[in-house]
Amino acid sequence: MEIKVMPAGESERRPKPKDESKLVFGTVFSDHMFIMNYDEGRGWHDARIVPYQNLSLDPAAMVLHYGQGIFEGLKAYRASDGRILLFRPEKNWERFNKSARRMCMPEIDPAVLMQSLEALLRLDADWVPRSRGTSLYIRPTMFATEPALGVRPAKQYVYYVITGPVGPYYPEGFNPVKIYVSDEYVRAVRGGVGEAKTMGNYAASLYAAEIAKKKGYTQVLWLDAVERRYVEEVGTMNIFFRIEDTLVTPPLTGSILPGVTRESVIHLARHWGIKVEERPITIDEVIERAKDGSLKECFGTGTAAVISPVSELCYKEERVTIADGSVGEWSRKLYDELVGIQYGEKEDIFGWVREVPLDK
Ligand SMILES: *Cc1c(COP(=O)(O)O)cnc(C)c1O
Repeated sequence: MEIKVMPAGESERRPKPKDESKLVFGTVFSDHMFIMNYDEGRGWHDARIVPYQNLSLDPAAMVLHYGQGIFEGLKAYRASDGRILLFRPEKNWERFNKSARRMCMPEIDPAVLMQSLEALLRLDADWVPRSRGTSLYIRPTMFATEPALGVRPAKQYVYYVITGPVGPYYPEGFNPVKIYVSDEYVRAVRGGVGEAKTMGNYAASLYAAEIAKKKGYTQVLWLDAVERRYVEEVGTMNIFFRIEDTLVTPPLTGSILPGVTRESVIHLARHWGIKVEERPITIDEVIERAKDGSLKECFGTGTAAVISPVSELCYKEERVTIADGSVGEWSRKLYDELVGIQYGEKEDIFGWVREVPLDK
């Protein structure tokens, strides 16, 4: 695919953050963006890299009314030798197209997704920060642009990629989170769109997250929408429990987002000989095991934090501390291994890392 490149002029360049340790997630964006358009009958066209800029939308653009919009989230990591590395990007492309299918949106050839991201990263390579723990966050997005108010799949879409440097998630070591179990509000229901990375899921999660925050909790633990008994996810992360010497995580039954980090943790743990069970787990079992001490660790997984240890749960106004609130051995080990692979410091035994060719 031909990508037209229109580099930013001197005056269009954006100020680079001076102190990489003070970066706030998702607030600073790089000089360029990739963008292309879709029209039914014509397919994807006009692939281009342009200076980061506003989009112009018709007020009737269908995404604004009926929410046909999906996105991805991944990172580019700077290795100590200067190389730029991506972690399992093909998993993001696969999930992106799965989300597209579920939302009746057009798919994009994974080779095109990869080629356009690499072209963008080559141009903005200097935006990939260098200090340990920092990275360049990548946000591929697609939404319906067709101006029409009938409820049906749109015939026009835009796909774009923006990027921006983000700070180290744990500048001073792990920061275990306290989570609030929501038994009133739910995130997604089986058969719905919970397994798609689609915009409305995040709007749907805000109300319960605000309630949790007011009560002093960082994240919401979501239960299944039907019985409000089975654990699903924590905030925008997948969740794992170490019960004695088994790692337990809820199975992907349709309402849970299939995380790349989740899959990597399962793969790595099994490789280490740890028994991993993907099985339904009730909140009652979690609370019971936290109380009798057999719940040794609990952590969320996602691209942003990699591993996010959970120190406390609040369920039906009862507070339960997990393993004295300390960070578990497996949480630390999984974090160190995954981060080590992502930054090209540990051997990439599963072929998860892809170097961005910078000299094309
Ligand atoms: C993106 C996301 C995750 C984590 O996925 P990763 O691929 O590991 O980053 C988990 N849950 C939700 C709801 C998400 O949106």
